[in-house]
Amino acid sequence: MATAPVGSSTLDAYREEADRFLAALDEETYLHFAGLKDEFEVARIYERFSDLTTLDACRRLQSAVESDGSAALELWRFACEGYLGDQTRDLTEEIARLEATLEVEVDGKPIPFRMLRPAIANEPDRARRERLDRARIELTDEQLNPQHIRLAAMRRDGTARLGFGTYRELYDRFAFPLEELGVQCRRFLDLTEDAFVEASDRLFRRRLGIPLEETSRWDVPRIFRASDWDDGFPADAMLPALVGTLADLGIDLDAQANVHLDIEQRPKKSSRAFCAPIEIPDRIMLVIQPIGGPEDWHALFHEAGHTEHYAHVSADLPLEARRLGDNAITEGWAALFEFMVNDPAWVARRLDFGRPDDFADEAAAMHLYLVRRYAAKFLYELELHEDRDLDDMRSRYVELMRHATKVEPSAADFLADVDPGFYSSSYLRSWAFQAQLEAYLREEFGRAWFARREAGSLLRELWSEGQRLAADELLDEVTGAEIDLEAVVERTQERLR
Ligand SMILES: [Zn+2]
Repeated sequence: MATAPVGSSTLDAYREEADRFLAALDEETYLHFAGLKDEFEVARIYERFSDLTTLDACRRLQSAVESDGSAALELWRFACEGYLGDQTRDLTEEIARLEATLEVEVDGKPIPFRMLRPAIANEPDRARRERLDRARIELTDEQLNPQHIRLAAMRRDGTARLGFGTYRELYDRFAFPLEELGVQCRRFLDLTEDAFVEASDRLFRRRLGIPLEETSRWDVPRIFRASDWDDGFPADAMLPALVGTLADLGIDLDAQANVHLDIEQRPKKSSRAFCAPIEIPDRIMLVIQPIGGPEDWHALFHEAGHTEHYAHVSADLPLEARRLGDNAITEGWAALFEFMVNDPAWVARRLDFGRPDDFADEAAAMHLYLVRRYAAKFLYELELHEDRDLDDMRSRYVELMRHATKVEPSAADFLADVDPGFYSSSYLRSWAFQAQLEAYLREEFGRAWFARREAGSLLRELWSEGQRLAADELLDEVTGAEIDLEAVVERTQERLR
């Protein structure tokens, strides 16, 4: 960018450039993770577009925000996040390199760091799970945390150069509803305390034979992995179920010229489904390699929710509404599709296994665990990003997580378990958005709303808005309500036995 993004014509040039940048990143992501290209060459893309995210660009966009209200707010956030990303890129790459290369010996055999979590989830022997977890924590504390501590300091310095006292202040200025969400999280934790203890105790006993009060953190991934339901969710039925579900909503997946379904088997393809919105709305990639089981079905439907959202976004909208904006919206559409898989009414229509109500009950217990964990994680991030003393944050992390999950966390995860850009707030708000929207759809179109063409028409209309509005505004337009985590309480309690 040679010219200053201040006047409207230069803002347009900035938008165009940013659009090309994001398209290039998404294309590279697609090629690499679809197994079509070994290298993941993002460095040269960052290099090519580096003028978008200079300190100077951030300052100019900030003055555009200050002079014309909120019109350039999303561009300014984009520039600042890019600036902070540039500042910390070497260090995040170093952390990724360490994570990819570190190994540790457990029971006389070397295990790569990144295999430790899956190994814990797949390990039936409890004592060995503990040894794997202790090895993971030791590596995290000794090898990774020094880097994470440097990263936190660099983010702090970058935020100061942007003219803000703390990362939290910066995001308040980006109009993230942090304070309000914090209040909702505390309330959610209070409201669900008893139901959570009862439901997770029941789930943990059923899956591992361990009561909640005896559960250790190395048991949790195993509980979440161990599923008697794998046979009910076969790999070869995934795509037909998706095609059929979309057809019920009036969407012909095969006829969508802008949706590219990548289902080819490739050795280096990501085993988890993903969506790469290379051009929004013109070229959206939905990439899958079906392996079956509830987790894989959830992932496919989640990514299909993103895909249909992006594929229906109106091409006339500016970059801010197509690619930027409130991510609680796209995560909300993804969650709407993902949680269909837990709905006994949907299961009855698309799958054939006994006891779908039991499956829904277990899924609700797991969701409650996840939302409580994220509520605590978000409350922790609020404190962390107010720049309290890092030494105190280890114990705060443990206190908040222990209170939410009733399982002793490890203090070593106090920095690794942090989402940049308060993305945890987008997930939390997306789960509320999903719960409220689903309640509305059921009221309007009946319990089997997902089989009604009218519901599909409404979804397409809402998808076409992209992320022009904040999730609260969009929800308000449809249901007259703002985002409220309490809706998650109602939805999960209905599913729990
Ligand atoms: Zn998502």
